[in-house]
Amino acid sequence: MNSKTDGTTPTVRTRLELLQQVKAWKQAGDTVGFVPTMGALHSGHLSLVEKAREKATRIVASIFVNPTQFAPGEDFDTYPRDESADLAKLASVGCDLAYLPTVDEMYPEGTLTNVRVESMSDVLDGIYRPHFFYGVTTVVARLFLHVQPDVAVFGEKDYQQLQIIRRMVRDLAFPIDILGAPTARDADGLAQSSRNLYLTPDERRNAGALQAALHRAAMRLSVGVRPSIALQEATQLLSRSGFGNVDYVSLVDKDTLQDLPDEPLRDGMVARLLGAAWMGRTRLIDNISVTR
Ligand code: AMP
Repeated sequence: MNSKTDGTTPTVRTRLELLQQVKAWKQAGDTVGFVPTMGALHSGHLSLVEKAREKATRIVASIFVNPTQFAPGEDFDTYPRDESADLAKLASVGCDLAYLPTVDEMYPEGTLTNVRVESMSDVLDGIYRPHFFYGVTTVVARLFLHVQPDVAVFGEKDYQQLQIIRRMVRDLAFPIDILGAPTARDADGLAQSSRNLYLTPDERRNAGALQAALHRAAMRLSVGVRPSIALQEATQLLSRSGFGNVDYVSLVDKDTLQDLPDEPLRDGMVARLLGAAWMGRTRLIDNISVTR
C-alpha cells in the first residue's frame, strides 16, 4: 500500500493489495464501507463517504472512469481527472483507502461477462444511453467482488442507477447493504456533478432551472394535477430557461421505475419525478420525490 503522510488518502492500484488490506481490517473486527466514483470529486461524493463512515469503521472509495459505460462519441477521453486533488479531498473526510484500478485490473480479459439488470436499465436514461446501465452494473459487480464491502453508498442524484443497483444486489444476493444518500446541491439548486465543469458561465447561470422545473412539477402533482399536464409544464419551463433538447421529464414508480398511469396521484402515494435535458453540450439529470 502506498501510505502517504502529506494529507492525502493512501492508495492501492491492484486487487491483490486491496484484498490484503481489507482482509487485515476484517480480521481486526472492522467493517468496510465502499463508495464507488469516477473521480473529479465534489462535495456530493464526499457526503457519500461521510454517510459510509456512519455505518462502517473503514471506508474505501474507488476512482475508476469506467470505459464500458461510455458509448463511442461520449466524453470518456475528456472526462475530468484530477487524482491528487481527489486524494486530498478523500483525506479531508477520513476516507481510509482509495482504490485506483487500471482498466486492465478491472477487465483483465476484456468484458465477456456482463451484468444486465433487464427492463429497469431500458427506461428513462436507458433509452438515451442504451449501453450505460449495463456498463455500470458490470463494473459495480466487479468492484463489489474486489472490495467485498459490508455497506456501499450511492447518490440519489443518479436515482435510476441507485434503484438498479439495489435490484442487482437482491437478485445476485450480494451480502452488501446499499444506502442511498441525498443529492448535494449548489445554492441555486443545481445538483453537483463532475460534468458541471463543462458548463460555460452563462449555461451555469441557467442550469439551476432543471431543479426548479422538477420542484414546481412536484408541487403541482402533490395537489392532484394530472401527470401529463405537470410534466408538459416542466418541459416548457426548461425550454424557456435556456435548455435545448429535453430528453424526458417522467413520473415513475419509485422502486420499479416503470411509468405511472396519467391520473392524479392518490393520497399518500410516493412517486419519483426524473428529468434529463441538455444545456448547450452538457447533458444534465436530476430527480425529486413526489408525494400526494
Ligand atoms: P460519479 O463519480 O458521478 O460516477 O458518482 C459517484 C457516486 O457519487 C454515485 O453514487 C453518484 O450518485 C454520487 N453522486 C454524484 N453526484 C452527487 C451529488 N450531487 N449528491 C450526492 N451524490 C452524488
